[in-house]
Amino acid sequence: MTSRSGGCEPLQAGSRLRRLTAPTSGAVSLHADASRPAPPAPRRTVGRHRRPPPQETALTEFPRPRPDVVVIGAGPAGLTAAHELTKRNQPVTVLEADDVVGGISRTVEREGWRFDIGGHRFFTKVPEVERWWHTVLPDEDFLSRPRMSRILYAGKLFDYPLKPMNALTNLGIVEAVRSVASYVKAKVSPPKDQSHFEGWVAARFGYRLYRIFFKTYTEKVWGMPATEIQADWAALRIKNLSLGTAIMNALSPKKGQTEVTTLIDRFQYPKTGPGLMWERATEQVLAAGGEVRMRTAVTKLRRAEGRVTAVEVETRDAEGAATVEVLPADEVISSMPLPELVLAMDPPAPAQVQDAARALSHRDFLTVALVVPEAEGFPDNWIYVHSPEARVGRVQNFGSWSPYLVKDGRTCLGLEYFVNEGDDLWESSDDDLIALATKELDLLGLVGAGSVERGYVVRMPKAYPVYDEGYDRQVDIIRGWLAEAAPNVHPVGRNGMHRYNNADHSMVTAMLTVENILDGTTHDVWSVNVEEDYHEEGSAPAADGSTGGTSAAAGTGRSAPVRPRSNVRAA
Ligand SMILES: Cc1cc2nc3c(=O)[nH]c(=O)nc-3n(C[C@H](O)[C@H](O)[C@H](O)COP(=O)(O)OP(=O)(O)OC[C@H]3O[C@@H](n4cnc5c(N)ncnc54)[C@H](O)[C@@H]3O)c2cc1C
Repeated sequence: MTSRSGGCEPLQAGSRLRRLTAPTSGAVSLHADASRPAPPAPRRTVGRHRRPPPQETALTEFPRPRPDVVVIGAGPAGLTAAHELTKRNQPVTVLEADDVVGGISRTVEREGWRFDIGGHRFFTKVPEVERWWHTVLPDEDFLSRPRMSRILYAGKLFDYPLKPMNALTNLGIVEAVRSVASYVKAKVSPPKDQSHFEGWVAARFGYRLYRIFFKTYTEKVWGMPATEIQADWAALRIKNLSLGTAIMNALSPKKGQTEVTTLIDRFQYPKTGPGLMWERATEQVLAAGGEVRMRTAVTKLRRAEGRVTAVEVETRDAEGAATVEVLPADEVISSMPLPELVLAMDPPAPAQVQDAARALSHRDFLTVALVVPEAEGFPDNWIYVHSPEARVGRVQNFGSWSPYLVKDGRTCLGLEYFVNEGDDLWESSDDDLIALATKELDLLGLVGAGSVERGYVVRMPKAYPVYDEGYDRQVDIIRGWLAEAAPNVHPVGRNGMHRYNNADHSMVTAMLTVENILDGTTHDVWSVNVEEDYHEEGSAPAADGSTGGTSAAAGTGRSAPVRPRSNVRAA
């Protein structure tokens, strides 16, 4: 084990000062003063760290040494934090375990093909985030893309969001009559048990429509029977919508709906994928004097005297050889998965807190990207696959996202599988997955197997924090303990807070945390994305396709179903 001895970019002068307004009482009020430069903060090594001597004189201002701020993870949350810090001349070291930036919002590149983990629309209702995106990425690098997605079922493509007339026409007269009869039956004699997703939805749409438009996709995403998903989720997502109101809405669109439709018809997208945003942000952090260390995983957080004082990291070189180092840390902004953060504490967290961490779990995700002639693609950005005969949940057409993702008169289709790390799909070889995806594309009638030219597999662990029964109590236990035992550790982001955050909310948690650290504000970062009814796309599923093609108000806050504990793998 070595201590930090180098690698940090030279610190930039021109820092903001902090004004000591009550020097004798010890009460410190922090006001930014960007006009006076502070000397570069000294480089410090664990064990030799000295606090400055107390100020005896009645100075109204003094240059306080800037804290060592360590950011764990170079995804949207981590890079937003680093960008905000360096913008204010606060040195920062970002530690990223992977060899690409962007986290789940990265763009993967293979042999010149570029694809997202899931397809990342840039959509936000937070003006600061909108501004931030356009500060980091020049307008010419942003595309405004039309949005189109449909549902594939029984060889037919249904408009999405669902339009009753289109749905009934596509179903055909016989199925349409059966569906209406099943709806009437559910109204006359509703399912007795409406405590689960199936009963709740069937009571409002009838069993036949439930099976076609809700059941299969929801079960694919969450990997469990719909009878074991609690009704709260459906109630939140589908609100008061029923077949009757859906038909009325379709026939008489209201003003509000028109506005939402406008919002969802187009979305912003960086020219070469979401990763471009995070690559630019990284460059700007580096240019402003920050440090971003790739292939560097935080493996331990050393605790002493009621706080974390250092992080232990393992850096892999190109050959995979690891070096261990210890970096001093006054403040730690962490977007690593919350359970892993807790379990990395040294000395360890109390048993009850470790148990809470181990009780939190995730759902994982893999994409098989298949290259096909452009003419074989489809105009949709993605298609939901409700057909139960295929395991694929969604098919992206990356060429519809941006022409800069594809090349040579070809497009790239991303077949998305919702999986658990270690299950049969996760463990399959890339060749087997490419063969399966090719077969399913053919089976679904989307593209003939003979048209697939090549394929690539991307596995993304911990894509979805799972909201299983009692997960919120576990998070509370962890929060409570961190506040007591490591108050200088600040969880941010999606997995960092075990919160179903989209990129914008992940960024907001980072922005508020930076203000808390630099300005002494007391923003409650945990309240981001909790109560608001966040209308991302009106009557559509969450950006990451987490609903079963429902026609419902979408919230990014509580859009994951609560799963009963018996079904959940430990993290
Ligand atoms: C399929 C899918 C589709 C989505 N679509 C959208 C969309 O359309 N729009 C949208 O806004 N959002 C979307 N999201 C959500 C978005 O991807 C996340 O909100 C966002 O990436 C979260 O950012 P983050 O920085 O909190 O976490 P992450 O993106 O998870 O980044 C965390 C980083 O920390 C690193 N890390 C982890 N452990 C360690 C460690 N021990 N040491 C060092 N580094 C570590 C990881 O390697 C990673 O780079 C989607 C998500 C999914 C799964």
